Amino acid sequence: SIGGVAESVSGRVRVAVRLRPRNAEEQVADADFADCVELQPELKRLKLRKNNWDSDTFEFDEVLTEFASQKRVYEVVAKPVVESVLDGYNGTVMAYGQTGTGKTYTLGRLGDEDTSARGIMVRSMEDILANISPETDSISVSYLQLYMETIQDLLYPANDNISIVEDQRTGDVSLPGATVLEIRDQQSFVELLRLGEAHRFAANTRLNTESSRSHALLMVQVKKSVPGGVDFPQESQNHSSLVGNLRPPMIRKGKLIVVDLAGSERIHKSGSEGHMLEEAKSINLSLSALGKCINALAENSSHVPVRDSKLTRLLKDSFGGTSRTSLIVTVGPSPRHRAETASTIMFGQRAM
Ligand code: ADP
Ligand code: MG
Repeated sequence: SIGGVAESVSGRVRVAVRLRPRNAEEQVADADFADCVELQPELKRLKLRKNNWDSDTFEFDEVLTEFASQKRVYEVVAKPVVESVLDGYNGTVMAYGQTGTGKTYTLGRLGDEDTSARGIMVRSMEDILANISPETDSISVSYLQLYMETIQDLLYPANDNISIVEDQRTGDVSLPGATVLEIRDQQSFVELLRLGEAHRFAANTRLNTESSRSHALLMVQVKKSVPGGVDFPQESQNHSSLVGNLRPPMIRKGKLIVVDLAGSERIHKSGSEGHMLEEAKSINLSLSALGKCINALAENSSHVPVRDSKLTRLLKDSFGGTSRTSLIVTVGPSPRHRAETASTIMFGQRAM
């Protein structure tokens, strides 16, 4: 069933786990071994194998097997967030997991060749476009990469050091240097994603790094005009005395942020040095800051420590009281990656 976010009993973060199927290499290399996880989707449980006879069991808000379609993943993880953005709230969908487990597949696939493969970004925009009126409403999009605590504009690469500005009064976050493009149809949005991806690849080649070492953030601002009208006192009663208050149209603003996080794998300290070590430290910093904020949300703590990293400062708006956050943790089946899988599962568990 969809639209169940509000019923999430344990805190404000809804957490789903998604297992990707074995790839060709794993089908051969791990042929004699069982997957490191076993899913029980109807019980919303994941079992992490400890050895041949024992496993630990974890519960999630949703458990998505290797057979879950992109459509179903969208409906379970993102659609409720998109709906609340259309209602004027902020919302975040993020994917966390080891490189190669399906974060970009889940969020970013364009599905040119096969529309059933479209990911969360494309499906979200489709839903937003279907629920606004082009004459009165607007959708504007920015697309950013956060690498080593520097924010780069994926729509205009010359903007390679964007600063975060916070409104002193409202606390709202804005990025005055970032390109903002108006979106009117699905084709132009898909072109924007393609352009951003090309710029990301070029920037990372220049920086001699991989996209798995940076975070990508898609920000979608939706402004909907809500018609005014007349408020009748005691509306449910008959309107024989038609004296009401005339309301002017209102603008309802909601912001959706989709975050394709950097790979969560631990980089072995001994094996990395220089630039690689700096990258690893930076990723650890932002992911652990994110973890602390999500834990604070999950515990309904009044203090969410957003100051510790640029990632959490960018997401600050979406950690507020009325916003919704969905976290999808992605795991692979290979027994060789059991330790990384365990650490991803623990991140997801702490968020609930
Ligand atoms: P990440 O972004 O986490 O590094 P990717 O999304 O790039 O991982 O996925 C790694 C590989 O696995 C890609 O070739 C992708 O097509 C494939 N893959 C990931 N998830 C799935 C899935 N659910 N079904 C089929 N293939 C998948
Ligand atoms: Mg990726």
